[in-house]
Amino acid sequence: MDYLLTDEQKMLRDMAAKFTANEITPVAAEMEKAGRFPHDILKKAGELGLMGITLPEEYGGGGMDSVGYMLAMEEIGKGLASLVLIMSTHISLAAGSIHKFGTDEQKQKYLPDLCSGKKVGSFSLTEAGAGSDAAGLKTRAERRGDTYLINGTKQFCTLDPDCDNVIILFALTEPELKTKGISAFIIDKSMPGWRVGKKEHKLGIRTATTSELIFEDCEVPAANLLGEENQGFKYAMIALDSGRIGIATQALAVAKASIEAATEYAKNREQFGKPIAALQAIQWMIADMNTEYDASWLLTYRAALMKDQGLRFSREAAMAKLKASETASFCADAAIQIHGGYGYTEDFPVERYYRDARITRIYEGTSEIQRLVIALNSMK
Ligand SMILES: Cc1cc2nc3c(=O)[nH]c(=O)nc-3n(C[C@H](O)[C@H](O)[C@H](O)COP(=O)(O)OP(=O)(O)OC[C@H]3O[C@@H](n4cnc5c(N)ncnc54)[C@H](O)[C@@H]3O)c2cc1C
Repeated sequence: MDYLLTDEQKMLRDMAAKFTANEITPVAAEMEKAGRFPHDILKKAGELGLMGITLPEEYGGGGMDSVGYMLAMEEIGKGLASLVLIMSTHISLAAGSIHKFGTDEQKQKYLPDLCSGKKVGSFSLTEAGAGSDAAGLKTRAERRGDTYLINGTKQFCTLDPDCDNVIILFALTEPELKTKGISAFIIDKSMPGWRVGKKEHKLGIRTATTSELIFEDCEVPAANLLGEENQGFKYAMIALDSGRIGIATQALAVAKASIEAATEYAKNREQFGKPIAALQAIQWMIADMNTEYDASWLLTYRAALMKDQGLRFSREAAMAKLKASETASFCADAAIQIHGGYGYTEDFPVERYYRDARITRIYEGTSEIQRLVIALNSMK
């Protein structure tokens, strides 16, 4: 689909592909197996400007558009899908929210270190009783003079405690107003009263640590309120529209890696005296995988392009995430089938792709929630 891309976008994609080949692919399987957070890779990504791709150059960002971001993230995700979760949370949900809703002081204070990768951004909305129904959160932020006192427990936050964390946290400032009483805060390590609780053990994307966050009388300066009080839910929904382009891209990466692995294997594996790629049954699987991938890529490209043009893209981002995530599962499943019994072993990467694909249908809104968003935005 190169004919749709600018020279600058292609250059960024090629740089990310080189970075992936040199720094990620050689260590991906071992790191994922160990569930080791990729501190070194993120540091190098920061040096190359990949931790702030879409943020303005004045804060040390790359000033690239969303299509460029999509292309770079896809290359990185082909090497290690969990990196895209960490990087898209960091870029779109955390740094992106500070850039979109923050004050000048907040931008000056946090964005340069986020763009360089010195600090790593997270986004904490989910709670035990508030998943798809994010507005059901119970974490409380009470104003006490120049500070807010935060109490509550957050679930499933993509955050590693050994980083210099910056968290966009959502909490109730006026519980009686429900959705309209939620505010967003910028939390960092200097603030006493928060800690990391249980670390989740997961089916896939294991290098991206998933943590419970516990807030006990956590004192947050009023200067760290993000945007306006009680506007937090709106900010979360806006951030998630962008986040979904990132997760669609993560899914595209898994689908593409599955296609490449399956195609290569089919050309080399011989049964009945010829490569299995010569069998129509295999060719049809390869045809379906490529068709689903191209459809998903075009939907994701459209959402990214609409974002770059300043258009509303909630419906299109939801479509891209829904389709790409289902395509990732489809392609990873077919890739295992093409590998036969070997695909079920850790000797080939397709079993990892199969596990990594699964989560893309769940986080940043399940497939059911994407359908809800698409339907509501299609009936306006
Ligand atoms: C690895 C991982 C990383 C994550 N990272 C983060 C993070 O960094 N920050 C963060 O805030 N959250 C994060 N999450 C949370 C994630 O976004 C939620 O798990 C997800 O939104 C689903 O919520 P839930 O798990 O509570 O499922 P539930 O909401 O309980 O859903 C259970 C089932 O019910 C269905 N369902 C629910 N409501 C409806 C409805 N109205 N219509 C139709 N079906 C419905 C769902 O689709 C699903 O099939 C992460 C989760 C995981 C697993």
